[in-house]
Amino acid sequence: MVVGVIINSTAKVLNKVFDYFVPEKLEKLIKIGDRIKIPFGKGEALKEGFVFEIKEESKFANKYVYSIEKDGLSEERMILAKLMARMYFCNIFDCIKLMLPPGTTTNIIENRVKDKVGNFVYLNKDVEDIEEDIENGTIKSPKQIRVLEFLKENDGVFISDLEIIADVSRAIIKTLEKNNYVYLAEESIERNPFALKEVPRDSKLELTYEQQIAFNEVNKKIENSKFDEFLLYGVTGSGKTEVYLQLIESALKKEKTAIMLVPEISLTPQMVNRFLARFGNCISVLHSKLSIGERYDAFQKIKKGESKIIIGARSAIFAPTENVGILIIDEEHDMSYKSDMTPKYNAKDIARYICKKNNAPLLLGSATPDVNTFHNTETGKIKLLKLTKRANNSNLPSVEIVDLREELAKGNKSMISERLKNYIEENIKNKRQTILFLNRRGFSTFVMCRDCGFTAKCKNCNITLTYHKNRNKLKCHYCGFETNNITTCPVCKSKNIKYFGAGTQKLEEEIKKIFPEVTTIRMDVDTVTKKNSHEQILEKFKNENIDILIGTQMVVKGHHFPNVTLVGVIAADSSLNIEDYRAGERTFQILTQVAGRAGRENLPGKVVVQTYNKDNYSIEYAKKQNYDLFYRSEIIMRKTLNYPPFCDIIQFSINAKTEIEVIKVSKYIYAELKKEFKSIKNNVIIYEPVPAPIDRIKNKYRWRILLKCRFNNNIINMINNIIEEYYKKNYKNVRLIVDVNPNNMM
Ligand code: ADP
Ligand code: ZN
Ligand code: ZN
Repeated sequence: MVVGVIINSTAKVLNKVFDYFVPEKLEKLIKIGDRIKIPFGKGEALKEGFVFEIKEESKFANKYVYSIEKDGLSEERMILAKLMARMYFCNIFDCIKLMLPPGTTTNIIENRVKDKVGNFVYLNKDVEDIEEDIENGTIKSPKQIRVLEFLKENDGVFISDLEIIADVSRAIIKTLEKNNYVYLAEESIERNPFALKEVPRDSKLELTYEQQIAFNEVNKKIENSKFDEFLLYGVTGSGKTEVYLQLIESALKKEKTAIMLVPEISLTPQMVNRFLARFGNCISVLHSKLSIGERYDAFQKIKKGESKIIIGARSAIFAPTENVGILIIDEEHDMSYKSDMTPKYNAKDIARYICKKNNAPLLLGSATPDVNTFHNTETGKIKLLKLTKRANNSNLPSVEIVDLREELAKGNKSMISERLKNYIEENIKNKRQTILFLNRRGFSTFVMCRDCGFTAKCKNCNITLTYHKNRNKLKCHYCGFETNNITTCPVCKSKNIKYFGAGTQKLEEEIKKIFPEVTTIRMDVDTVTKKNSHEQILEKFKNENIDILIGTQMVVKGHHFPNVTLVGVIAADSSLNIEDYRAGERTFQILTQVAGRAGRENLPGKVVVQTYNKDNYSIEYAKKQNYDLFYRSEIIMRKTLNYPPFCDIIQFSINAKTEIEVIKVSKYIYAELKKEFKSIKNNVIIYEPVPAPIDRIKNKYRWRILLKCRFNNNIINMINNIIEEYYKKNYKNVRLIVDVNPNNMM
């Protein structure tokens, strides 16, 4: 008997199947998916791998499997890993890794952390750079490599845990620190915010007519064990969660399990408590805040079948659940369901696969559905279920638009319009709270010379540097490069330097100037740290009744704030100006969600949206809070310009250390694409290679080739052929990344 084995490594050269004989004593035990040890390479050191296939014989096998270890995969998961590697153009091991319990290379943390404060180890360099240093031999020590490999998956690990897991001494970690690969940060060990606790139990509510219809449709599939896909489309507060709860209950009654994905940022204790109140402790919450030990425990609990309900962010889709009765993806439009890291998977694809395998329904929920999803309800691929009213009969807030061009004409150059100012004043007087929302993307402060137009850019990234007032520094948000602020133009020596754009800091200052007495709290990338989580900032805002919360998109989701009656959007345009065909969709989604923060209970809410483009359809329809009208306009635009859902966009990114290399490889890939796709050229548009919108990051040159076509089996095969040939060429210092319908096209 022979097994084909995938080696436990992300190196491209090891992305193939190696054959091994199975010793007689293991023949009856070994299964596909098993984690095994095998002698490998020079010196035949034992390496870990996974059984990929089982066969009678092989002429390549010449060594024997050494042992079978615990914590392997199921056969079904192994098949999924194989499928994913093909669809997302990555190594099979990259996919296996997503499905493994964390920290499992045989050493499980037995001695759980007891100290309250300790050193946590974080990576101090980019994963890409570290991989390069390992590949080209800058880092040789296997112990150091083990530490880095582990941190790549689990950044921020308690130092004594890391010693045990990677099986290294503290000296090894200190060496890595000295060489700037990692840094240590003293932190108190956070209590698991989702530690299961006793919550007073509640019982199910009587469903409204609309909820009942939605429930019945999906429940039929649970009862009959049939796959189907549904979109539950309903405004915030329309009672979607109550429908989820009752469907999960129905699946549990049939002795099945349930998975619910939510965006990481919506995964709040409040939300989890609703599930605890209904179901008690048969829940596992998978969250990035869990310690490795806690995550390992959760995995084991799920595997043993003790957890019936899994709630988690994107990666929870890979929890080792069996016998799934329903899978729910809440806020299905959220970008975070598509991974930006290898493997660049979309959790919705994986969810569909799991539901089909388990004969279970897939339920997507949103107040502002993804345009692609809604289109699928029109073509009949997905069944549409609607909740049109708020369940507790609170009204949707009124939304007013303020035209900033008029404001400017009136001579008001401040970030706050006259109308918004008046409303804030009134709100403070009435002891109500206000949220001010500033979309940071493409909207931070930068410095420019008024005389010659010089702007300060990062020397590594060709990106405009952001001004940080509290430290008087200019900083690159891509690579962290930092330099002193300039007062004299380096080009023309003019002293006429101006600050453009406005960040949350500046907004807070303006507010303090206008309303010296008010209390404010700010939430953005600068104030949210590991210690000061967005959760804590929001709790503080709520509990201490702070007058004004100022924040970026982070404020959009999660909490209910009963006392918030006013939401101000400082500049709705900032998300319109990003170079992306989804700019309109993003703007509509953000504005609708921000609006949803106002007046959620019995107090009426008001939303003020300031904009320079008041006639833009996504702003106009966000004002009306009318998704249907927005969708009608958006879908016509998509069709006219041939964008998804009418095609898929496949992005080939080529990154290299020198411009010559990046151009050479881009041209090579382009020529190969032309050749490979010749037979189907009518259905594919291949754009010529061009520099990416951000053409240099961290001293790497970045080029792009875009393909528009229908992503199908045929295309997948062709692209895999090209990639295979590409790796044979063995280009040094060049990276090729293929991403289908990428989130980020910069
Ligand atoms: P969504 O998930 O769509 O935002 P929720 O399920 O959170 O909506 O419901 C909003 C509020 O309405 C919650 O306070 C919830 O308890 C309440 N609610 C939901 N369904 C009902 C119902 N059938 N009867 C009474 N109250 C309900
Ligand atoms: Zn100048
Ligand atoms: Zn930079």
